[in-house]
Amino acid sequence: MVKKHSQKIVKCSFCGRDGSEVGSMIAGPDVYICDICITSSVDILKNNLAAYKNTKAVDKPKRTPQVIKKALDEYVIGQERAKKVLSVAVYNHYKRISSRSSFFELDDVEIEKSNILLIGPTGVGKTLLAQTLSKILDVPFAIADATTLTEAGYVGDDVETVLVHLLQAADYNLERAQKGIVYIDEIDKIARKSESTSITRDVSGEGVQQALLKILEGTVAGIPPKGGRKHPEQSLINLDTKNILFVLGGAFSGIDQIIATRINKNKMGFASDLKDRETDDDLLKYIQPEDLLKYGLIPELIGRIPIFAPLQTLSEEAMKSILSEPKNAILKQYKKLFMMDNVELEFDPFVVDAIVERAMERKTGARALRSIVEDFMLDIMYDLPAKRNVEKCIITKDVIEHGKDPLFLKTDKKSA
Ligand code: ADP
Repeated sequence: MVKKHSQKIVKCSFCGRDGSEVGSMIAGPDVYICDICITSSVDILKNNLAAYKNTKAVDKPKRTPQVIKKALDEYVIGQERAKKVLSVAVYNHYKRISSRSSFFELDDVEIEKSNILLIGPTGVGKTLLAQTLSKILDVPFAIADATTLTEAGYVGDDVETVLVHLLQAADYNLERAQKGIVYIDEIDKIARKSESTSITRDVSGEGVQQALLKILEGTVAGIPPKGGRKHPEQSLINLDTKNILFVLGGAFSGIDQIIATRINKNKMGFASDLKDRETDDDLLKYIQPEDLLKYGLIPELIGRIPIFAPLQTLSEEAMKSILSEPKNAILKQYKKLFMMDNVELEFDPFVVDAIVERAMERKTGARALRSIVEDFMLDIMYDLPAKRNVEKCIITKDVIEHGKDPLFLKTDKKSA
């Protein structure tokens, strides 16, 4: 309350001015503060706040979603939507981490963790995306296969081995590990077998899902530093999973049927011809949590994966690009290997077509590309170092299709 006090008695406890020198004076128990001191106090506070916000602006993640996406583009061909979804999710994730220990914690809005589910057929870049993210962000990365978690006996421990790998990837720097990325593949393979609770317990899937749930939602897990089973006498490392970003991946084959059925049921008129028009890939973009539930993921786990990113089957064009465009494209790697032997390696354009054609037949996405290339390159790699004066090696279509030798161009000995 602002009071005008008698000019004789009251002095500002801060500046010593008396009532006659100031506009007003506020009284506390045995203290007074004048309007001048209040105004300058407000200025000081405002300046402090501005300075604080400036330091926070510097702290703000420098990698905007667009910067992250651009970096992903260097390694991953196509999958535009998945790259966009991941870029935004990761940007928000690291913003969330930095907000926890700051001024922004003062408000009541808590940004929830945004674990991500990548859905798409095999060999289309799910693992590559997660791996590339960790490279871009320079955070430790660990991969696990959900199916191997099913096979071992005691579920709880096994899921935690994922965290052991993360800690190892972080060179045992606990703080770094706690901000890392974990990719868990084949999550669809631990779906429970039937939607309704069955009489016989579904040990294979549901138990692992429960165990995963715990680390996904954030827990302090006691992990044996060297992996393996916990021993009573061993001291455990407490690793907090609340800031670890979990990326789950799976093919979810057949989920397109579930989505189509749901859409057809809900919107008879609109969607009755939907199946004809839309490919399986297109249907994935309509995926809803209830489809995953129907597929056999437990609701609690679905609740912990708020972000879905569908990936598409790779087109022939995309496969061609994958062979030669990404930063570590297969053909680039071979060219580099040859260059180290001072040989220029060239692929006839028809070779690329032939490789892709064969790879498409295998239906394992881009995964087939490497094995096809490795297959015909083996003999060449075996023989080349023994050949003398080879300057250039040209792989022609005949090499792939008829197992012929490549063309070797030799240096002119006179000019050498
Ligand atoms: P999955 O989707 O089964 O996790 P991966 O990410 O492991 O597939 O892909 C297998 C290999 O195929 C990768 O190592 C990568 O070289 C290549 N590959 C797959 N998809 C892409 C893509 N979209 N862009 C570039 N390379 C890809």
